[in-house]
Amino acid sequence: MRYISTRGDAPTLDFGGVLLEGLAADGGLYVPDELPTISANDLRDFAELEYHEVATRVLAPFVAPSLGPDDLAPLVEGAYSTFAHSDVVPVSTLTAGEHLVELFWGPTLSFKDVALQLLGRLFEHELDRRGSFMTVVGATSGDTGSAAIEACRDRAGIELVMLHPAGRVTEIQRRQMTTVDSPNIHNVAIDGTFDDCQDLVKSLFADRPFRQQIRLGAVNSINWARVAAQTVYYVTTAVRLGAPERAVSFCVPTGNFGNVLAGDVARRMGLPIDRLVVATNHNDILARTHRTGEMAITEVRPSTSPAMDIQVSSNFERLLFELNGRRGAPLAADMARFRTEDSLALTPEVLEGLRAGFDAGSATEGEVSATIAAVNEADERLIDPHTGVALTVARRDAPTGGWTTPMAVMSTAHPAKFGEAVLEATGQRPDLPPALAALADREEHLTALPNDLATLRDFVTACCTR
Ligand SMILES: *Cc1c(COP(=O)(O)O)cnc(C)c1O
Repeated sequence: MRYISTRGDAPTLDFGGVLLEGLAADGGLYVPDELPTISANDLRDFAELEYHEVATRVLAPFVAPSLGPDDLAPLVEGAYSTFAHSDVVPVSTLTAGEHLVELFWGPTLSFKDVALQLLGRLFEHELDRRGSFMTVVGATSGDTGSAAIEACRDRAGIELVMLHPAGRVTEIQRRQMTTVDSPNIHNVAIDGTFDDCQDLVKSLFADRPFRQQIRLGAVNSINWARVAAQTVYYVTTAVRLGAPERAVSFCVPTGNFGNVLAGDVARRMGLPIDRLVVATNHNDILARTHRTGEMAITEVRPSTSPAMDIQVSSNFERLLFELNGRRGAPLAADMARFRTEDSLALTPEVLEGLRAGFDAGSATEGEVSATIAAVNEADERLIDPHTGVALTVARRDAPTGGWTTPMAVMSTAHPAKFGEAVLEATGQRPDLPPALAALADREEHLTALPNDLATLRDFVTACCTR
């Protein structure tokens, strides 16, 4: 398998290269030259297999020739043995034809774990193969930080420095990060905002000599390995709900477009998916783009589903590349224009392609809260606000007479991670799962630093030369 850039002007790489490189040198995102296929017979086989076995089968063509199936299988098995449910990604039923895909059984209780647990192991394997090392520096406003830390802890060849804005993440979020006691994990509380943290990380990446010296890397959601890992639960869910004999639709709470893009990739590989519904909160750039054909940035407003509070969905570029006939040069020009003008008009063909494969809708905070309450009342179960966004859109925007296929709603976080919003909506505080409850008694490890680039650079250097 060879990987090419969406902007058409970067070296072609194999999986190992794409894994460590992340962003392409031309600013584009790597995608497979050609997608592998999944046949109806594959799907019938998968019905008999465990999650990690399906994952190995689905992912093998993406990682070849950097990794053979015998290298891949133990990494996949290790990654999904950390999940607290024997199905790894179980599917539950709310009402007839309406299902929840429970993506939150990993170590940090959010869907990020599904990809990152595997990514950490892939990094370690590839670095070992190359006799190399990397320093991962990231900034987090909450969720991604803990998932990245759990993915990289105790992995050989990796040092991870994670910045968070001091006093501006919830206590649970902070403790999920800082109570990890591992010599290669370095939590830094920056005296500043999340934007300050992100600016510091960007400045480190902009410093080429420094970047090369410490082999600076990232675990952000544009890494193709994350997208590939996420195709697997579309496959296992569709099989459970009747594929290949019948098609399934999915509704996905969307921020950076990584999750729903994986659904589109699975569909292009041959999985019988009917509709993919993009659900956003009031930060609705994707829903507006779908409706108007104009991708226009507006100010981000905080919500109860903070993992979806974004302006620009970076993975959307991969879909635009497919919809414009995989032409890198025009896409590069479009993305440059988008960057300077904060807005981009989709061509009629691209817009038509978008609407042919996807529906899109946004949910207000009031609607989300009402949906969380309604589910609690009808089913005596609690869902988190990200799941609430998707379920609101799936219910409200169903065609007259309902969806013609089973509708699988992606449930991306455990309700206890967003206990305040759930309490507000239902009057009930979700029980902390044992893994979270135990955090209260553990020692925290973190370094407080000022919002200063030189100080941070020294700190990072010390971490990776320890
Ligand atoms: C990251 C995240 C999302 C958004 O997923 P994207 O792949 O960025 O679209 C939704 N819900 C939760 C809980 C998340 O952590």
